Amino acid sequence: MPPQLAVNRGTPVRTRQWPLWPRPAKGAAEALNQVLASARWSLSGPYRGVESFERRFARDFAGYLGSAHCVPAASGTASLMLALEACGVGAGDEVIVPGLSWVASASTVLGVNAVPVFADIDPDTWCVDPAAVEAAITPATRAIVVVHLYAAVADMDALRAVADRHGLPLIEDCAQAHGAVYRGRKVGTLGTLGTFSMQHSKVLTSGEGGAVVTDDAGLARRVEHLRADGRCYPDTAPRPGAMELVETGELMGNNRCLSEFHAAVLVEQLKELDELNARRARNAAVLDGLLSDLGCTPQRTSEGTDSRTYYVYGALLPEGALTTVDIARVTEAISAELGFSVLPPYRPLPVNRLYDPSSRRRYAISEEYEKRVDASRFQLPACDRLARRGFTLHHAALLGDEEDMRDIATAVRKVLEHGAELGA
Ligand SMILES: *Cc1c(COP(=O)(O)O)cnc(C)c1O
Repeated sequence: MPPQLAVNRGTPVRTRQWPLWPRPAKGAAEALNQVLASARWSLSGPYRGVESFERRFARDFAGYLGSAHCVPAASGTASLMLALEACGVGAGDEVIVPGLSWVASASTVLGVNAVPVFADIDPDTWCVDPAAVEAAITPATRAIVVVHLYAAVADMDALRAVADRHGLPLIEDCAQAHGAVYRGRKVGTLGTLGTFSMQHSKVLTSGEGGAVVTDDAGLARRVEHLRADGRCYPDTAPRPGAMELVETGELMGNNRCLSEFHAAVLVEQLKELDELNARRARNAAVLDGLLSDLGCTPQRTSEGTDSRTYYVYGALLPEGALTTVDIARVTEAISAELGFSVLPPYRPLPVNRLYDPSSRRRYAISEEYEKRVDASRFQLPACDRLARRGFTLHHAALLGDEEDMRDIATAVRKVLEHGAELGA
């Protein structure tokens, strides 16, 4: 029999085009034109007699989340570093982060001269395991960062209990979970501070962008200063033509501001977030059923989640299937059937090629510090197992219809049935 799998030049399951991401919201082009004509392209420019788009987006997003304060920032990375510094994390402190996440979870901790300590994940939710977090706490721990990974909300009840027991700030990295709801509250409002990314791939995007949210006015003021070279908005607007930001000298910062272009786009994109999240969730529910029928195990969210969102759809291969084939080969084969990238989960951070503090001179403060940031000391079996057995699809695949979900399941079934062609 000739090869069946598309990766071996067989006929693919599908050649039809997939939905593209990002897609502009209805009002986005008009909003961009307003900024172009406004003579104000950054919040750190002269006041023109109208509210900046940056403030407008901050107000809209805080209102959407139910948070008292929102400070937009240039990226998710910047937002995480702002949140860490606002909490007082600095040189030599330890910060507990999930062992499986985008590299920014670790590199931002290094970015404030602290030491990332990796905790293993829960095998069902793929989010950080609260017991592993508690076991990783030492006298040097200064903060805990939790990531709501891919499409699941972490066990926030347990994580909050751990943080409270040890008097530690809990930072929620919501870069992948805009709009998810846990026990009646939007994620980002459940910890001490919440951070968001609006980078191209995320479910709310302006190409690049970020935000920090908190209910604590003091922390919000620190974040404001840290992100705008030590300046903050005044209580009352200045005369038009004067700089709006005030140089208080309260706290030194660095420029990590979101531009007016990005903020204007986000104001419009935010209006369509709920509708798109709902469509992704509907399709994901269909896919859950189809893949479960094949023996796959979709990623689960924590008990207490009222409404999950989908940044990336993830599932595990059936127990015992294709165990001798490298997961990258399996996902390549599924991708070839679909004409859409299906990828293994992130490589666990201790073995992730993107995590390499020794490649940057700025982190070489001392030999002792270099030893502490060497990740080879961490053993994370749940992360390792997921990395070997999981497969993931970007949320663009969930923006279509049920037919698309059937194609995905058909592709997975075909690869499972023809595993011998991959050397199984
Ligand atoms: C995308 C992402 C970040 C970083 O956001 P950027 O805007 O790309 O800097 C941080 N954490 C997680 C979990 C992410 O997915």
